[in-house]
Amino acid sequence: MLTKMQEYHEKVKQFLPGGVHYNFNLPWEESPLHFVKTQDSRVFDMDGNEYLDLYARFGAMILGHGNKVYQDALKAAIDRVLCVSHCDFDYEVLELIHSLVPSAEMIRFGLAGTEIVQNALRVARAYTGKNRFVRFEKHYHGNNDNIMGGKAVNADYPVPQDFAGDTYGTSGRAADCMESQSFLIPWNDEAALEKLLAAHGDEIAAVITEPMCVNGGSVEPKPGYLQKMRALCDQYNVLLIFDEIITGFRVGLGGAQGHYGVTPDLTTFGKAIAGGGVPVSVLAGKKEVMSLLEAKKVIHAGTFNGYPLGLAAVKATLEILSQDNGAVYPKMQEKITAIQNILVQNAAKAGIPLIVQGLPGCAAYHCCEKPLESPSEYSFDILTKDIILNTCMQKHGILVSSMSRLYSNISLTDDDVAWFEKHSVGALQDAAAILEDIC
Ligand code: PMP
Repeated sequence: MLTKMQEYHEKVKQFLPGGVHYNFNLPWEESPLHFVKTQDSRVFDMDGNEYLDLYARFGAMILGHGNKVYQDALKAAIDRVLCVSHCDFDYEVLELIHSLVPSAEMIRFGLAGTEIVQNALRVARAYTGKNRFVRFEKHYHGNNDNIMGGKAVNADYPVPQDFAGDTYGTSGRAADCMESQSFLIPWNDEAALEKLLAAHGDEIAAVITEPMCVNGGSVEPKPGYLQKMRALCDQYNVLLIFDEIITGFRVGLGGAQGHYGVTPDLTTFGKAIAGGGVPVSVLAGKKEVMSLLEAKKVIHAGTFNGYPLGLAAVKATLEILSQDNGAVYPKMQEKITAIQNILVQNAAKAGIPLIVQGLPGCAAYHCCEKPLESPSEYSFDILTKDIILNTCMQKHGILVSSMSRLYSNISLTDDDVAWFEKHSVGALQDAAAILEDIC
């Protein structure tokens, strides 16, 4: 017998490919839930099941569900100034972003992270007059053909190519665009970057990196690595782009660049910057670089760029997060750290090797003995075990983001920690039984 939600999902599947709004090339099927109600850190599906939401819409939902101040700000914008090209709070939003992220000397807005990353690359190419960019294994910067997946086989000229089994592999990719636009090297490896820039710096416009590699397993940079990256970029006239689409306003008010004390030339933001209710992405950077847009040397277009509802969402989100100098962050981090510790303890009791790594707010668990030192160590084996546990948690009322990330939000309470403590026990027992079967 199908439940009400399963029946509903069957109907959706007739028209929605795979029954999902989103898919990668992973060998298991998502089992989507359809929700009817959300409040704070909890969401409720069509069958009446309640979940603790650590999925947080891929990290976007930093305020929790139903934050009244945020929702009232959106409603006010809808009522007053919904659809115009420029509104009377443009300046307030720009100034707010600049005051929190000093490297944001000038700012442009877009909608998706994918799109704003491409704009960052275009600006970097225009500024340097060079074509290629450097990217790193297991990083993710959106689902454009030129920047997703691949593997470099020739260490002397490490251009990415398609390979069988790539979870970011896709049919339909435009021919040659991976090979012709980027170099792909391991992350957290100073020597690899130094060698590449020394040999091919004259071809390279930009180095793009997640400052903490959340997509590669929430691996933190080794001490001094980002500083070295900064110095090498300066030496070879290459722009440094930090993709803070996950880390921005999640690890703290100044993003990962504030946390690690390294200033990029350009930064991309998305997800949490607009509180999760509406899409806004941001390209921010040095005036000297961003002024290429001012001089109309570089095109940046988009029907909805800087739309009032999005700007109202950014303004409300950043005002809430920056109140009392960001007092919400330590509180949020305390709750998510408690959840992380419980997961580690309960996994040990269930006999599952498990670690949690990364800055709280976008840390990830992995079913393995010790933290990954590089995203390249995030193997298919670990990924599979992580997903098994993820699926079991979903069955026990806990939603975790797809790559095993434990995303926090400012509405987390001790009650949520207690929910996790209670419900994770059964999830881990179920996962232990499955893992024993397959290993
Ligand atoms: N960059 C990073 C670091 C991301 O994690 C993502 C999305 N997960 C993107 C870019 C793409 O953003 P979007 O999904 O909004 O296109």
